[in-house]
Amino acid sequence: MLQLKLIVHMTREPGARFRPDSRDHTPTYLISFLQIHSISLFISISRASRRYAQSSSEKKMGAGKDEVSALHDLVASAGGCAVVDGGFATQLEKHGAVINDPLWSALCLIQNPGLIKKVHMEYLEAGADVLVTSSYQATIPGFLSRGLSADEGERLLQKSVVLAVEARDEFWEAEGLAGRGYSRALVAASIGSYGAYLADGSEYSGCYGPDVGLDKLKDFHRRRLRVLVKAGADMLAFETIPNKLEAQACMELLQEEDVQIPSWICFSSVDGLNAPSGDSFEDCLAVLNKSRRVTAVGINCAPPHFVESLIRKLRKLTKKVIVVYPNSGEVWDGKEKKWLPSTCFNDHHFGLFASRWRDAGAQLIGGCCRTTPCTVRAISKALKSNY
Ligand SMILES: [Zn+2]
Repeated sequence: MLQLKLIVHMTREPGARFRPDSRDHTPTYLISFLQIHSISLFISISRASRRYAQSSSEKKMGAGKDEVSALHDLVASAGGCAVVDGGFATQLEKHGAVINDPLWSALCLIQNPGLIKKVHMEYLEAGADVLVTSSYQATIPGFLSRGLSADEGERLLQKSVVLAVEARDEFWEAEGLAGRGYSRALVAASIGSYGAYLADGSEYSGCYGPDVGLDKLKDFHRRRLRVLVKAGADMLAFETIPNKLEAQACMELLQEEDVQIPSWICFSSVDGLNAPSGDSFEDCLAVLNKSRRVTAVGINCAPPHFVESLIRKLRKLTKKVIVVYPNSGEVWDGKEKKWLPSTCFNDHHFGLFASRWRDAGAQLIGGCCRTTPCTVRAISKALKSNY
């Protein structure tokens, strides 16, 4: 018997094959045809694209109810585990960009925005379902210290989202993916930790000193968060958070700013057991579990050999979506100013371990520093081979 697998997008998006309206959500004409011809049909209703039908006038800081579920929808439509992209600065450098600068990858927003778009496109081609923007180390104070005005800084932040959205939409159109069962990739606006802005390595120690309290951290993140949401990001990605205090600041900010799009909060880890500050994940998750606005929690830029046990730990501590995107396991030799080769993980290992991480409970898997589109291709192949 002929079997068809069909994803019905409930959307007004141009190109979608079926457009059920509010009076009749079942394409009855199709079902009659299939019955007559004895064809069995599996219908999966994807809600991921509903957000494109939403009026922009409904949007506040983010959007409405459908946007909140966009991340869950993406995970579901990817078969239970979606793919996050890989190292951004790593790939910029592969293309010759020199970003040894406090602004790091954000320097390219000023000098070579076309290259940023190209890297986004490479990750889409490798199978990424989530693009993380180039704003990790892009902050208004950082731009001010480079002699730019606050307005210019905000425009660059906005540009980081626009470049990723353009790449995503162009890829979608070029590949003719509408109506073929794919979910359009989500653009996650990167919000690096306060330590990332300091560029002194404190995102891996969590030691911000006695003068940095909750309010200071919230004030640091507030304006950037507003600009990134307004620029049209699908979600927010707080990255490399090193301690409970900053996680709480991010969570409270989502509430205070009434942010309606999904967000993840990811911690780094240097011992494979705790956040870099030594705060336990039990304590960190006890804080984040209180907020429905934090959609996902997880680990980024930790060595990959920590990841499986950390997923199992987090799985016991939360019902939220778990996201992991470790670095390659290579170690930065600060004295020699070079990366020491990884003894543990290459792209092949990432492919093998992606399935294990999924089985342990991760629902979003990608790579961080020193991973490349080849890494993401291996992850995507492993996760989607049975789907
Ligand atoms: Zn990293």
